[in-house]
Amino acid sequence: AAFSRPPRSVEWPRASPATAGDNHVLVSEIFGQNVFTLKTLESVLPKPVFAHFVNQVKGLAPIDKPTADAVAHAARVWAMARGATHFSHWFQPQNGTTAEKHDSFLTLKTSVNNGLEEARAIDALSGSQLLQSEPDASSFPSGGVRSTFEARGYTIWDTSSPMFVRAGPHGTATLFIPSVYISFNGEALDEKTTLLRSCDALSVAAVRLLRIMGDADVARVRTTLGTEQEFFLVDRGTYRLRPDLKITGRTVMGAAPPKHQQLEDHYFGKMPSRVIACMSECELELYKLGVPIKTRHNEVAPNQFEVAPIFEDASVAVDHNLLLMATLHEVAHRHGLKVLFHEKPFKGINGSGKHCNWSMATDSGDNLLDPTANPEKNPRFLLFLVAVLDAVNRHGALLRATIASASNEHRLGAHEAPPGIVSVFLGDHLAEVLDAVAEGRPVKSLVAPSHQAVRLGGTVLDLKVASLPTIARDLTDRNRTSPFAFTGNKFEFRAVGSSQSPSFPTAVLNAAVAESLTAIADTLEARKGGAATASTSDVMDVVQELIKTTKRIRFEGNNYSQEWAAEAARRGLPNIKSSPVAFKKLLEPEHMNVLVKQGIMSEAEVKARYHILVDKYVKDQMIEANTVKDMVRTRVLPGVFSFSKGLAESVAAHKTAGIDVDSLAEKRTLERVAGMTTKLFDAADELEREIAAVEALADEEAAAEMAGRVLTVAIGHVREAADALEAVVGDSHWPFPKYADLLF
Ligand code: ADP
Ligand code: MG
Repeated sequence: AAFSRPPRSVEWPRASPATAGDNHVLVSEIFGQNVFTLKTLESVLPKPVFAHFVNQVKGLAPIDKPTADAVAHAARVWAMARGATHFSHWFQPQNGTTAEKHDSFLTLKTSVNNGLEEARAIDALSGSQLLQSEPDASSFPSGGVRSTFEARGYTIWDTSSPMFVRAGPHGTATLFIPSVYISFNGEALDEKTTLLRSCDALSVAAVRLLRIMGDADVARVRTTLGTEQEFFLVDRGTYRLRPDLKITGRTVMGAAPPKHQQLEDHYFGKMPSRVIACMSECELELYKLGVPIKTRHNEVAPNQFEVAPIFEDASVAVDHNLLLMATLHEVAHRHGLKVLFHEKPFKGINGSGKHCNWSMATDSGDNLLDPTANPEKNPRFLLFLVAVLDAVNRHGALLRATIASASNEHRLGAHEAPPGIVSVFLGDHLAEVLDAVAEGRPVKSLVAPSHQAVRLGGTVLDLKVASLPTIARDLTDRNRTSPFAFTGNKFEFRAVGSSQSPSFPTAVLNAAVAESLTAIADTLEARKGGAATASTSDVMDVVQELIKTTKRIRFEGNNYSQEWAAEAARRGLPNIKSSPVAFKKLLEPEHMNVLVKQGIMSEAEVKARYHILVDKYVKDQMIEANTVKDMVRTRVLPGVFSFSKGLAESVAAHKTAGIDVDSLAEKRTLERVAGMTTKLFDAADELEREIAAVEALADEEAAAEMAGRVLTVAIGHVREAADALEAVVGDSHWPFPKYADLLF
């Protein structure tokens, strides 16, 4: 029912009829329309002023007041031409979303008229307003940083991400200024500051290593990120009848329908027209904002979809992922749909992730993880590859902490999504390359000799159909079960949750890799002695050593299997199933130091982050538990009671009519339902007791530990009893739409 209603019609912009008839405007023409690009700025600023600004963006010289004033003026004029009446610093508090506080351009100028003062309204945006703002914003999570130091929080313009305008009410618009959010003492209160610092740390470490290897031309190494976003769409009308979806973002009860995803007939199928209309409108808005959306398709589960952009610099990619989520949310509303970003909205059906495709590239766009045709003869590739393996080997547990949350817990370690063990998948070919290098032997060919290698281990695939072209086969085969996989020329961190910001996982990955690159650079520097650069044999020695020491985190098999859990335990790899345990990794010195020693986070910032995560976890668990309790007490049980009442009345009527009721179906159903109802009632009582027990704990850590341990179990018991009843109680007495209503 969800998608059988007609789609809302979407107007795609058309070129003016005089020139191009009824033609649609091309995506390339729409792209970036609402972005204040460098090119636009260059066209309106005097050359030397623009050069000052560029130096600021490159981090070479801080921006001065005249330059800031000039940029502010140009941005305001540009934005006003697009209907802007307001501007807003746009920032990322540590709650996974974005925040904004709008100020109008309105400024009052006083002049004297016939000896009387009179205020006159003008539109203005000064350089200092562009640079900095002080939103009160005291309700954002700060993990104690703000109360410890100083109550004020500041937003500061991030010149590395472009400004943009978004439509507001009745044809007006707002100029958005991407910003960081910090305390009076410069402690990060947001996601972005940490990410930017981590990108810098990675760049410094990578550039140094490249120098040692003899590459002196690279001034900066960029972190590249492409986020594949999975989500569900459900009909808004149906959604509104499910308090659990509205409050927690997932269904806390609901029996499995006879058909869900067994047939896998949704995956890559034709997208429903309502969905296509919604996605298309969403893409249109995102193109205008310069978000390079590239792909859209159906996912495995019914009503599950995926959208992915072309990769960009990490910080901009994060901005764009958050814009994508906000836009999808808003546009879905217009289409009578509700987007669910929760990692596990439906039990027994695939959950959603946010695959973070990550790599490093030089300032000239050279991908440092590109294996090229002969990876075994490419020391630079091998060295950067083993640096990532080393980073994951040292800090897998920390990476696990960055993706821990009450919602992602339902996915990690469950039967489908990547488990709580962080291992790396390389694919047959690359695994063989590393093994061969470590053993000092030639690489075994994995393909028949008649087949020419085209690119990384690529073979020419002969399809035996003359009309089809021969194509290069990619030997980086897919392993969808791996939490961290090498896919061609990048790593894909798949365990990241669909609802979270990709910022922190990326920042920690950067930090860990930067640390490994630095350690490698230190080793090579010592080994090269007086020589200008490290020799290839020195480099290959380091590569060999690291292949050996990181062997334990490589796993090519099925990550969902029981055998892997046992094998990982033998290898001494952590298997962290609970979020509170994962969060504690942040405080362990070896993990905390990877952030602190490189200046990416201070100790206070890490501790604050820890508190925010723990606090959020407890709140999420409690909200979910209370939602379950309320749904059972005020909706499910009354529904069941009225169903039972009808049965009892029927039994009584039969009796009055002199019919033997002993084997009457109504009576037998009544008995069965009575037993199940008692179970549900008792389970709800148990849950209520556990809620009270968690509430009674003053200590946040103890509350998190207990919530994770007992609330989940108690919720599970309630759910089991409720789902069993759902299969017996008459449809008209069941208080919520069922899975079949939500999914088909
Ligand atoms: P798949 O994962 O199926 O191979 P794609 O090749 O389309 O899919 O890549 C998925 C995502 O990875 C896209 O967002 C893409 O832009 C991104 N990506 C590709 N190359 C890189 C790279 N060098 N660094 C970061 N992300 C990348
Ligand atoms: Mg992928």
